[in-house]
Amino acid sequence: MGVRGTSRKKDHTPVMRQFLGAKAQHPDAIVFFRLGDFYEMFYEDAVRAAGILDIALTSRGTGPDGNKIPMAGVPHHAAAGYLAMLLRAGEKVAICEQMGDPSSARGVVPREVVRVVTPGLCLEPDALDARAENFLVAVTGEGGIAALELSTGTLRACVVELGPQWVGELVRLDPAEVLVEADAAGLETECRQTLPKAALRVVAPAGALATLEEALTEAQVAELSTQPGAARAASLVLDYAKAHLAHSDIHLATLYTAGDRLVLDDAAVRNLELARTLDGERRGSLLHLLDESKTAMGARALRARLLEPLTDIERIRRRHDAVELFVLDARARDQCRALLSEIGDLERLAVRTAVGLASPRDLGVIRNSLRSAQALHARLRDLPGRDLDDALPSLQSADLCEDVLSLLEHALVPEPPAIDRQGGIFADGHLEDLDELRKLSTTAKDIVLDLERRERERTGIGSLKVKFTKVFGYYIEITKSKLDAVPDEYVRKQTIANGERFITAELAELQDRILHADERARALESAAFVDLRISVGNHAPRLHRLARVIAAVDVASALAEVAHRYGYVRPNVDPSYDLFLEDSRHPTVERYAAKDGFVPNTIALDPEGTRLMLLTGPNMAGKSTAMRQAALAVIMAQSGGFVAAKSARIGIVDRVYTRVGASDQLARGQSTFMVEMTEASSILRGATERSFVILDEIGRGTSTYDGLAIAWAVAEHLHDATRCRAIFATHYHELCELADRLPNAANYNVAAKEHDDSMVLLHQLVPGGSNRSYGLAVARLAGVPPVVLARAKAKLQELEARAASTPAPQIPLFETPQPPDSEVEATLRALDVERMTPVDALVTLARLRDMARRDDA
Ligand code: ADP
Ligand code: MG
Repeated sequence: MGVRGTSRKKDHTPVMRQFLGAKAQHPDAIVFFRLGDFYEMFYEDAVRAAGILDIALTSRGTGPDGNKIPMAGVPHHAAAGYLAMLLRAGEKVAICEQMGDPSSARGVVPREVVRVVTPGLCLEPDALDARAENFLVAVTGEGGIAALELSTGTLRACVVELGPQWVGELVRLDPAEVLVEADAAGLETECRQTLPKAALRVVAPAGALATLEEALTEAQVAELSTQPGAARAASLVLDYAKAHLAHSDIHLATLYTAGDRLVLDDAAVRNLELARTLDGERRGSLLHLLDESKTAMGARALRARLLEPLTDIERIRRRHDAVELFVLDARARDQCRALLSEIGDLERLAVRTAVGLASPRDLGVIRNSLRSAQALHARLRDLPGRDLDDALPSLQSADLCEDVLSLLEHALVPEPPAIDRQGGIFADGHLEDLDELRKLSTTAKDIVLDLERRERERTGIGSLKVKFTKVFGYYIEITKSKLDAVPDEYVRKQTIANGERFITAELAELQDRILHADERARALESAAFVDLRISVGNHAPRLHRLARVIAAVDVASALAEVAHRYGYVRPNVDPSYDLFLEDSRHPTVERYAAKDGFVPNTIALDPEGTRLMLLTGPNMAGKSTAMRQAALAVIMAQSGGFVAAKSARIGIVDRVYTRVGASDQLARGQSTFMVEMTEASSILRGATERSFVILDEIGRGTSTYDGLAIAWAVAEHLHDATRCRAIFATHYHELCELADRLPNAANYNVAAKEHDDSMVLLHQLVPGGSNRSYGLAVARLAGVPPVVLARAKAKLQELEARAASTPAPQIPLFETPQPPDSEVEATLRALDVERMTPVDALVTLARLRDMARRDDA
């Protein structure tokens, strides 16, 4: 470190001038300034980065003001990991490279910022999660949302009404970086709360839409301009990308606009724990359970499908067909999955290739992947008697990019290196000049070997050796004891501990030939590799299309694997308004939580019979679980998968609404009740007859009567006006009355068996209301100490008695009433001595004594 800091003092000024030039171009980025084998950072960049990366802050000479210049550096070969850390911290990094070969340049090596990497514009595998998309999102005031996935070359744009739908879209995209249009700055706070992990930037309002025309086809521009908000958002994203990427033509494969799909608001995405649990973990989420995909493309596609289920019955059925195919044919499933596991991330590699970032090894992965894709295609074609083309229509016309494969097969060695400067990339027979140079070098090396043999004979020194090191080149090594026999024409080069090293004219000449040939070969390979990368990169759109076909096969076989493993069934999705789930289970509770086995439950809703289900039952009985499993079945079915049930019939659903738990929202600074009411109001306004709504203990966050009144009104509205399918879990037993008043509402409860004061939870959904909350039994289950239970029981009896004797009897003013049980007596009577441990007994005794003293006072 010290050496680096001082030895370059002479060229300090010109180099720093270069740095300051680069910094002036990218004032808001940390500049990675290439100096030899390091990327150095200076001034504030160095201070900031040293903090984030936990690396040493040093200094480099002094600036014109006489102060030391702060500096921090990361080794070039390990830069990727540090870059990833900076991006995760939300920073932009400008990569400033040495242009040209430093050893041949005279004076200061020219340096240039070759690209700016931002969290949302990133192609570095180290900084990307292979199994999730990485979005750069822009939002405009009119609800325009555009999302660019640079690494897979996709852009999507839509307009979503500001409010819960809009928040839902952002949560679903889970972007790495968000651009907020300056005159929509009100959205900034909303974005910051919704997406605490994303890097947020306020950017100038979208100007003319010129970049759209550069990046998109005419048809795409026409499609987009039907939605001005979407077009403006897309333009913001593309402008930003253009400003940060040196390769100006952004490679875009597809444009999506928000199409027909099942709408999930953010409450549904979060509360149903589709992609993350409420604690933000992936483990335990539905996606984690379902993701048996073998390729990165498949994993990303599966995630997108789950968060964007369809509403088009035909498309949903086709997806089910594909899954079914692999469910029925276990052998095909296993074989295809084995082939899929050999396929790399074609989608992202294609983009890296197109923008000139792919290494020889990356092209090797593309080659191997294309090879396996071919085998996969052949295996699928072999499936007998199945209507494969209906199930996977893209497969039939799939372009297997055979020309690209054969180019790479011919060009590359079996295992190409990770760097492109050291040669060893191309197979023999691909480049004539290279073959020639390699032959020259090999022949010379053979002559060197021969020379060793000849010299041993001529000098009679058996231990004579010809050796090579990078620093000294070729030399002849003679041990100390034989130095007398060294011929006169040997020229001494170096003395070592146990001998001397010599060179001869012949060896020097051979060395020249070898080094020269090797160097030319390396240069030739480097140049030829760039050409090869360009040729392959030109086919990126085709590689992308193929990647999507592979992803579809991967998703289908993964969902089939899950269906097979856990016993899921193909749902029948139809245009009715029914929801019938026979013996259904909650997929993640079944896998991760229910230790003693999951109790399946049948849930049946239909427009003529029950479409509003009022669910009561003790705490911990399984109310929340039952209603969530119904919502999950709808989502899984409409995203094209099988469901955890014995049989399932689902009339297509347009929106799933949930009001389940509010704990995760507390961090956002709203009160539980406020959150509840916001969500309830969005449901009441947005739900249609086709929607499915689950409301879990609505009204809980406020005083009993407010809550009950609101819950009552909401249930009535859903029943009478919205007429959607809904499940309503409540601890207000008064609500059970609703079932008598509303023709299409019915009471259900989750059964429990009570024995003395204890209770067995059966987790079984049965018709009828329950009129008890079993609160004390639950408290006992939870380990509340017996003395407290006894006291609670006494209090409960008192409250019940008081409620039963309304209107409360007037106590005559001058008559001494019969003294009621004292607190001590009531508690004593309720004690369950048989169940007490000695310690409990002592604690109870102490409590009773305290009560008695209080009674005395
Ligand atoms: P509630 O909402 O009625 O208070 P939950 O739905 O939260 O109850 O369920 C509590 C726990 O009971 C769950 O975490 C789960 O472990 C278990 N459970 C719920 N339903 C079932 C079931 N059908 N079979 C087995 N265990 C269940
Ligand atoms: Mg619950």
